[in-house]
Amino acid sequence: MDRNTLVGQLELLNISFTSSQIDNLFLFMEDTLEANTRFNLTAIKDRDEFVEKMIFDSAIALYDLDIDNKKIIDIGTGAGFPGMVLKILRPNADVTLLDSTKKKIDHLNELSNKYDLKISGISERAEVFARKNVEKFDYAFARAVSSLNILLELIAPILKVGGTFVALKGKNVDVEIKEAKNALKILGLEITKINNFTLPISKEERNIVLIKKIKPTSNKYSREYNQIKKRPL
Ligand code: SAH
Repeated sequence: MDRNTLVGQLELLNISFTSSQIDNLFLFMEDTLEANTRFNLTAIKDRDEFVEKMIFDSAIALYDLDIDNKKIIDIGTGAGFPGMVLKILRPNADVTLLDSTKKKIDHLNELSNKYDLKISGISERAEVFARKNVEKFDYAFARAVSSLNILLELIAPILKVGGTFVALKGKNVDVEIKEAKNALKILGLEITKINNFTLPISKEERNIVLIKKIKPTSNKYSREYNQIKKRPL
């Protein structure tokens, strides 16, 4: 996907941007690919593929969503997807990037300083962070971290009541949702919408699942990770 196609696709979806934000997204791609030669950040090295499957793929999470002046978090952000893309496109959002790998967070904090973005990068396990940050966030995002039933337990505690988890998912979303039915109920969450997309070049399917917190989560959650893995809700 080249720059013109990215711009055209964002316009088609009514996701607003400035041309300097598009410049910054391309700069972020170059810095990510450069860092990728030093440590493993992304398997996608081809630039056209990167624009479609990393940048555009992250940006579609903004479809029909206003995160300006909201407190948002990206759980398991890795090299900053979707969180860094969201911050570049929506600089007024208060963005926290969380990952258990310190090296990745150090790298993102460096880029944040370089671009003067003021993101807050935290290296900690999500289930530990969740117990200390109850009802702090308006929106949480996660891409390619874990199946929905596990993710929900990591994320439910940190959302404000009325807040939304935006799960960036691929094509097998129906199975994941079925397996997460019980977790949704126990944690006080409700799926409000699923936005379906087809990536324009690869034609791969994406589903953005919007999950609202409708009541406070019991302080039993998040449990220790081995418990979550062994006995998912
Ligand atoms: N969201 C990024 C990275 C996906 S890879 C993208 O879409 O490209 C998954 C990332 O989640 C890894 O960087 C890993 O370190 C992180 N991760 C997995 N489990 C985690 C947990 N329990 N707490 C915090 N980070 C976690």
